[in-house]
Amino acid sequence: MNFDFSEEERSFRREVEEFAKAELPPDWDEKALYWPAGYGTLPGLEEEFKEFHDELLLKLGKRGWLSIGWPSEYGGMNSMVKHAILDDVMSYHRAPPGDVSTAIGGPTIAKVASDEMKREWLPRIARGELRFWLGYSEPNAGSDLASIKTRAVDDGDDFVVNGQKIWSSGAHIADYAWLLAKTDPGAPKYRGETIMLVDNRSPGITIRPLENICGIHSFNEVFFDDVRVPKKNVVGNVNQGFYSVMLALQYERLFVGVGAFRRILDELVAYVKETKSNGRLLADDALVRNKLASMAIEIEVVSGFYWRTAWLMDQGTIPDLESSMLKLFGTELSRTLAGVAMEILGPAGQLKRGSKWAPLRGLVNLGYMDSVSGPIGAGTSEVQRGIIATRGLGLPRK
Ligand SMILES: Cc1cc2nc3c(=O)[nH]c(=O)nc-3n(C[C@H](O)[C@H](O)[C@H](O)COP(=O)(O)OP(=O)(O)OC[C@H]3O[C@@H](n4cnc5c(N)ncnc54)[C@H](O)[C@@H]3O)c2cc1C
Repeated sequence: MNFDFSEEERSFRREVEEFAKAELPPDWDEKALYWPAGYGTLPGLEEEFKEFHDELLLKLGKRGWLSIGWPSEYGGMNSMVKHAILDDVMSYHRAPPGDVSTAIGGPTIAKVASDEMKREWLPRIARGELRFWLGYSEPNAGSDLASIKTRAVDDGDDFVVNGQKIWSSGAHIADYAWLLAKTDPGAPKYRGETIMLVDNRSPGITIRPLENICGIHSFNEVFFDDVRVPKKNVVGNVNQGFYSVMLALQYERLFVGVGAFRRILDELVAYVKETKSNGRLLADDALVRNKLASMAIEIEVVSGFYWRTAWLMDQGTIPDLESSMLKLFGTELSRTLAGVAMEILGPAGQLKRGSKWAPLRGLVNLGYMDSVSGPIGAGTSEVQRGIIATRGLGLPRK
């Protein structure tokens, strides 16, 4: 068994490290919000950093790093492991490694779209010129995406879309919706739905902000009122959108940002080494030491899941089971880690960002709230357990 990285992968990691050091602003550590595996503080979602993120995407695109995991015939490097290295390093620095368009839309288009669509969209995505938002969830359809109501009606060269999406992360700063709409309401479950790319500037789209649990405007509700979408924007086959969604979710669940786990652990370790409670260094407290040691072990475990999932993708496998295990374990660990961090910080952990007494710049307080979102977004923990039970253990479907 060989779990090691190749020399090329190691050298790529060094290159990304240098890039992050050179490109992130000097005060980035103070500004950057991101709790590992949280969905409400995703780097690059805040309007405040839009310009910086846009420029960073172009720089990443110039190096060919936004398309590393894609097949080489579409400008990629055919290496999900390298893509995972990029995400690992960038998330350690709490920096955005890409966007929905590059991490989810691009690789899915490369697999399922027509040649014409690949030619039109992939180069622009790879250059970092476009941002997507994921238009799946609706007020009454989250886990059960087969029950969406948003309709796309065939009308000549276009589809005409009516309906509502919700929890649309980053819709306010994106260019296109990666939209799941019902194209055949009479079709059996899991058929009759289609993915299409919808220009955010199309007449008939209204985007209303929603504030998340951390008090950040990260997601939105989006209304579609007779929105015309050219048929050439359909991704894959009409009425087979569910297949594309399942594939896209494999890519989405891979990016839990494992570097961010190591980063917060490093910061907690440094904190306990220099902070005293009742005249005693926290680092000498047996309970604190035990808790941090347990977190170190679990972070190793989640890293193992992470590299294995990326590696399996490079072997041409669709790791649906493994990506569910990674997603479940990573997001549950995000919650546990937030709890442990809060216990270590004590009452001061309740102080928010902005307070000069807030330890670790208030990040733990923010993370404690954001970690609630991880086990919900991109498929809840219950849904992941359902996948593991059926596909992994061969238990009957319910
Ligand atoms: C921070 C954040 C960002 C998000 N961003 C986006 C986004 O960008 N785009 C987007 O489309 N959506 C987004 N979502 C929505 C997310 O995908 C849904 O919230 C999620 O799929 C759950 O759907 P729901 O909220 O409707 O809950 P429901 O599906 O109503 O689930 C409620 C409860 O029932 C359980 N449950 C449901 N079905 C089953 C089942 N079959 N077996 C066992 N238990 C079940 C669930 O686990 C959960 O505990 C985001 C969510 C969050 C929290």
